[in-house]
This record gives sequence, C-alpha cells and structure tokens, in this order.
Amino acid sequence: GQQTWEEALLVIKTLRKTGITAYIVGGAVRDRLMNRAPSDMDIAAAATTEELSVVFPNAVKPSEKFGTLLVKSGNSIVEVTPFREGAKTIEEDLKQRDFTCNAMAADARGAVIDPFNGQKDIRKKVLRTPESAERAFFLDPLRVIRAFRFSAVLGFSLDPEAERAAEAAAAGLSHTAVERIRDEITKLLEGKKRLSALENMRELRLFSYFPEAVRTGSPFFHHPTLVQFPAGAKVSWAALLYALYGRKSLDMLNGWRFSNQARKQCRWLLERVDVSASPDTWRQWLYYFGPKQVSDLEKLKQWKYFTYRGRTCAEWKKTWEALPIHSRQELALPPKSIASMPAYEGTAKIGQVIAFLEQAVVNEKVENSEHKLLAYLEEMYDE
Ligand code: ATP
Ligand code: MG
Repeated sequence: GQQTWEEALLVIKTLRKTGITAYIVGGAVRDRLMNRAPSDMDIAAAATTEELSVVFPNAVKPSEKFGTLLVKSGNSIVEVTPFREGAKTIEEDLKQRDFTCNAMAADARGAVIDPFNGQKDIRKKVLRTPESAERAFFLDPLRVIRAFRFSAVLGFSLDPEAERAAEAAAAGLSHTAVERIRDEITKLLEGKKRLSALENMRELRLFSYFPEAVRTGSPFFHHPTLVQFPAGAKVSWAALLYALYGRKSLDMLNGWRFSNQARKQCRWLLERVDVSASPDTWRQWLYYFGPKQVSDLEKLKQWKYFTYRGRTCAEWKKTWEALPIHSRQELALPPKSIASMPAYEGTAKIGQVIAFLEQAVVNEKVENSEHKLLAYLEEMYDE
C-alpha cells in the first residue's frame, strides 16, 4: 500500500516537472482513507495521451478507449489517464465519476481533494453519486452493477435516491457490454457481503438483464444454502451460474464470454457438482487436477447440497501429498522400458499404457516399483 502510493506520487512529480498537473484518483484514494490495500493505482492528468507519451515514451498503451498509459514506477504499474471528457480541472473530472467515495483525488503532496464529501460518505458507509443520481445511472447503467459491487466489497449501502435511480436505469443494462458486467460481478463475488448484494440485486430484478434472462422461480430464489455462498473466483461463479440458470448453466458459459481458461474451470466444476463419485474417482480427480480444484468442487457441492459434508481443503491437501505419485514422471516404469516390452513393442499405445498405470498406482492397485509395474502389465497382457 504505502510503497505503491509513494511510487504513484513519483509519477505525479515527474509529470509536474514538465508542467503537467496530475492526481491520484479513484479507488486508491478511497482505499487509503479506509486503510485498505489498493488494487491498482490510477492517476488523472491534465494532458492528452500524446503529451503523456512524450513524458513516458516506454509506457504501454493497453487500449485506445480512455487513452490510458501504463507507467512503470519502482515495482508498481501505475495507470495514467487524461482527465475525463471535457474536464479542464480535477473537480470537473471527479464530478464524472461514479460515487462520491470514488470521486476524490490526492495531489503531489498527498493532500486530499474531496469536493463531494466522499470522506463523509465513507464514514456513513453510503454510496452516493456526485451529482444527480438519475443522470449518472442513465449515462452509464454499469454503475448500477458497480453500486452492488462496492456494497459487496466495502459493505456500503446505496443512499435512497441512488437506489431509486438505479432501479429506474437498470433496463439500460441490456445495452451494456456483457464483459463489463462480468468483470464487476467477478469483483462482487470476492466481497465479504456478496450474499446480501446478490439478494438486493435479485430484489431489483437485475438478473433479468444478464445474458439470457432468467425466469422468476429460478433456483436462486429458493436455494436453502444461499447463506454459505462460496468464496473464490471460480467456485463462486460456478455457484452463481447454477443459481441463475440451473441445469442450463453449462450452456451459459458462452453467454458470459469468459476466457477459455475461466470457462474450462467453471465447466469442470459444473459438470461434476451432481456426480456422486467413487473414492477412486475422487483420487483420480485429485491426481489430475490437484487439491485446490478438488476442494473447490467440495465447496460447490456443499453449497448446493445442504447435507453434503465433504473434506476440507487441508484434508484434500494431505490426501494429495500422500498419493503414491503426483505426475507420470514419477512412475517407476519409464516409457522407454514399456516400449521395449515385447507385448508393446511398436504399438502406438504407450500413452494409454502409461495412463492405465497412473490410474492403477494412484488407486493403489499396484505398488510404484519397476518390477511390480512390469509384473502388473504382463499379467494384464496375458488376460
Ligand atoms: P478497485 O479497487 O476494484 O480498483 P476502483 O474504485 O479503483 O476499484 P476501477 O474500476 O478501478 O474502480 O475504476 C477506477 C475509478 O474510475 C473509480 O474509482 C471511479 O472513480 C472511476 N470509474 C470507473 N468506472 C466508472 C464508471 N463506470 N462510471 C464512473 N466512474 C467510473
Ligand atoms: Mg482501481
């Protein structure tokens, strides 16, 4: 926290030497005032992207959209962005931000600029828009989702005017890019108060603006174990998808435009949540996918089935450590030896044989020693 803050101030001082005024803005200022670790450092500068590029010729330009530059300072990456559209002063920039707690800035000396009483709203734990709430949510309906994201993460509540305006503007979410909604939900799901945030969103019928609107009466409404809504990026998404779409959740992975990796991990969990697997199958999963993923599956099952009692993450880790092997490299019979066995010579099945041995060793059907494995294979071949 402290270090990144200082590194951001260095960027501001560098800019000031060239006559450009700049400020730390947004979440970093809020988090500092709340004694929270910042997730990233944003700087707003009174300059165009071109002018900023002259000062930081090595900066990375991630996308054209807001003209943001990624500037390396010490060990931190600081996002430097020109003032928001039409803003000539920092106050005008801050006015266009979503909530008063995010509409504060810090100058080169660290002094806080707070034209909309963000500090007071932080003390009151309330989300309020700097200007007319109606206009703010209408201009960018994503702010509706952001409001619930911050309520989940910071434990704040919407002030009554903001809540009314959010409800009225929610329909605009059907025109908001699903990726933007997805990224806010991902952060929401990491919040301590994610459950009540989701409940409040449900009350406002916000889920009907999610990909492929859900019927009322979706499992989410009745799920008795909602109270334990699981934590963790993958497993909480899997739970949410299940809660929203029930048995169609697998089909909805595309609708939310997840990355291939996120899609794969969610799919893995959703495909197994209803399977009552044998101890051998659990060991296979543990061997191939590791204790973290397996305990995510346990969490999801526990959430879905009230009475289900799985093993804890620590127990799975112990079981994993006690597995006779952890990868095929640890098999005591190397692929070379298999290939030189008369029975398998010249066959294209070495991969299958190895997989077969891995399974047998993991499930303790055979000891992982060269002669035992050889004997096991020969016996199999004879049958
Ligand atoms: P985090 O701690 O997750 O980074 P953050 O408050 O920094 O939260 P970001 O999404 O990183 O949020 O955005 C940085 C800042 O940009 C916000 O604090 C806010 O001032 C402003 N902002 C971001 N998105 C919007 C938006 N849709 N409408 C208005 N202001 C926004
Ligand atoms: Mg941020």
